[in-house]
Amino acid sequence: MVSPILTVDVEDWFHVCGHPLYSDPATWAGREKRVHAGVESILALLDGTGSRATFFVLGWIARQSPALVRRIADAGYEIGCHGDVHRRVFEMTLPEFREDVRKSRGTLQDITGSPVTSFRAPEWSMLRAGNPAFAVLVEEGFTLDSSLTTAPPVGEPSNPTRPVMLETASGPILEVPPLMGTFFGFRAMWGGGVCARLTRESRVGAAIDRSLAAGIPPVLYAHPWEFDDAHPAMPGLSPVQRLVHFSGRTRTEGRWARFLKRWTFAPISSARAA
Ligand SMILES: [Zn+2]
Repeated sequence: MVSPILTVDVEDWFHVCGHPLYSDPATWAGREKRVHAGVESILALLDGTGSRATFFVLGWIARQSPALVRRIADAGYEIGCHGDVHRRVFEMTLPEFREDVRKSRGTLQDITGSPVTSFRAPEWSMLRAGNPAFAVLVEEGFTLDSSLTTAPPVGEPSNPTRPVMLETASGPILEVPPLMGTFFGFRAMWGGGVCARLTRESRVGAAIDRSLAAGIPPVLYAHPWEFDDAHPAMPGLSPVQRLVHFSGRTRTEGRWARFLKRWTFAPISSARAA
């Protein structure tokens, strides 16, 4: 019997990939920090439900707010790694990627005192199952990844849609992909993100049930900024970026609240037993 899986990518509202105004870490010190508010909303939502979750935390966030990471771990949730400064994998050389994941994993492990073995790439940027960066993850101590989707341009249609062991030059790693569906006939993520938010809740709910019936753990995801009532305005985003970030954003909290009444969620490590 598989469980539905709940995940949170712990980043702040300004952690937008590939944007001249937002993605440079040198600009982050002057930004209003809001991640705590969103994380507290999520923890409050989960509290008392019996559900568990995995929080994939940026190394940068962990260095800014080690107490936030401790708070999540002490509340009984799993800590995973979301990279160090939210750079997409394909923007880095392999040595740079190694440095990024080594630094972020080390930061998180120093704070929690526990091994961090699960990884999610910023913006699903592992892209394909044959990416040599998977071997780097194995060499750096990761045994599980949740970064492959089948929706172009952030994934390839041949990528897995259920947990599968990927063989790399350095050994195996378990890939646990997010729940997929369609949006206006195209492959789209239903585990979270703009297409999920703009899809009727009943359709996403039915997809979760179908996935469970098929023995495939449906993986849901969200970000703390989707749970923040005081999200700052973001001048300078392109129309598409604005749509991806803001459209249906405030639906996430109510939807998760109702889903948490309907199912008991597990952390991503539960897929190891599936
Ligand atoms: Zn992210």
